[in-house]
Amino acid sequence: MYDENNIFAKIIRGEIPCDKIYEDENTLFFKDINPTAKIHILAVPKSPCVDISDFVLKNDNEIVSDFFRKIEMVINKMGIKNNGYRIISNSGIDGGQEVPHFHIHILGGEKVGPQ
Ligand code: AMP
Repeated sequence: MYDENNIFAKIIRGEIPCDKIYEDENTLFFKDINPTAKIHILAVPKSPCVDISDFVLKNDNEIVSDFFRKIEMVINKMGIKNNGYRIISNSGIDGGQEVPHFHIHILGGEKVGPQ
């Protein structure tokens, strides 16, 4: 069950500020407040979804593919494409997910630690 009051939902609604990297109709990218790498960006679809399954099952192919294309665009824009980066999405209790709105972490700008 999606919680409309989770912190990313509030950021998407503009109720809480964020350090924005990119925004369009369907997606929002902003800096993680507690970065674990020199570059740590959160890629967030605006669709109210808890995790990747929820996102893929609730949205049509165009929205899903647009989200991943925007991730590629931001990776390019941040200049981390050549040196490499890591993308992660935590889900649920075993995945250690803190914020119950689907998001992908983009980590780079330096050698990121083991897994
Ligand atoms: P997780 O749900 O475990 O994949 O991670 C949630 C991430 O959201 C953590 O890395 C937090 O540092 C980050 N975070 C929590 N609140 C904010 C906020 N207000 N602005 C930016 N990042 C946040």
